[in-house]
Amino acid sequence: MRAAVIREFNQDLSIETVEDPICPDTGVVLKVSACGVCRSDHHGWSGEHPRIKPGRILGHEYCGEVVEAGPLAKYKVGDKLIAPFILACGSCHACQSGASNTCPDQVAPGFSCQGAYAEYVAVPFDHNLVPLPDNLSPKLAAGLGCRVTTSWHALNDRAAVRAGEWVAVHGTGGIGLAAALLAKAMGAKVVVVDIVPEKLEHALKLGADAAVNAADGRAAEAIREITKGGANVSVEALGIAATTNASIECLAPLGRHIQVGMPIGKTAVMEINMNAVYMKNLALFGSRGMPAWRYPSLLDMIERGQVDLTPMVAREIGLSGASAELKAMDGPTPPGTAVITDFLS
Ligand SMILES: [Zn+2]
Ligand SMILES: [Zn+2]
Repeated sequence: MRAAVIREFNQDLSIETVEDPICPDTGVVLKVSACGVCRSDHHGWSGEHPRIKPGRILGHEYCGEVVEAGPLAKYKVGDKLIAPFILACGSCHACQSGASNTCPDQVAPGFSCQGAYAEYVAVPFDHNLVPLPDNLSPKLAAGLGCRVTTSWHALNDRAAVRAGEWVAVHGTGGIGLAAALLAKAMGAKVVVVDIVPEKLEHALKLGADAAVNAADGRAAEAIREITKGGANVSVEALGIAATTNASIECLAPLGRHIQVGMPIGKTAVMEINMNAVYMKNLALFGSRGMPAWRYPSLLDMIERGQVDLTPMVAREIGLSGASAELKAMDGPTPPGTAVITDFLS
């Protein structure tokens, strides 16, 4: 099959013909219909992700059609499915208690094994997958396995956002924009933060109530002014210390910070303003992925038209276009994300 492979960090992905994936007993092989290009991929491409080494095929935001099914698979050939980026085992304590996104035996294609920047991807533990709804295009569905599910879980299941609350979103890339759209749909008021004016305008057009340019380093103060005392919930969607501290510092007393951005760097250790946490009695949540059993709640909302996620995808690209997208993430990027929909160009 045709695939884009990391051969050297920070260099163009190598477009190669590689062996087709072997079908796992507990899962399927998908013919990939679409795969999102995510900032987490950039961490892998640049060598900052501990589990991604040269030889890896990236791609964790995918959907596709089953072309082969293992003897223990739940799905059959021809089924069109969306995959979450975390494939949980289904039988451990974490899985059985409903927190399958923390499964110690989880598999994550694109990180711990070969991903979907390729014509085909092997997907073990296919009970984590869900059927692609008829009215959802593959290019939009591709983002649902990562950015949208992550935001949905963070806002609902971690921070328990309530209608009327102020939600601050630091970073309006894929996850940030998804969080802003979902928080609005949940009845919250949203203030978005970025350093790219175009991205702020884009978010305002899509319904954000306020926007703050963080370029001057005073984002927290500006948010406290706009919200008259601080946000109730703040989503950090970048994974760096500056935005994490802005997120903590923009909160009202008793506010909830959610760490959604994957902390970058070899150790991912950050210097955090713990005085703000202490003085304001804040809660800090970590949030990664979403347990697969939460998919119906999200898909139902999308299918009923209660939230329109189409503005999240800015462009469709070919497989060979992924390198340029990754390189662009070295700096601030324009609004919307890229989705690979053509695996032969
Ligand atoms: Zn992602
Ligand atoms: Zn498990």
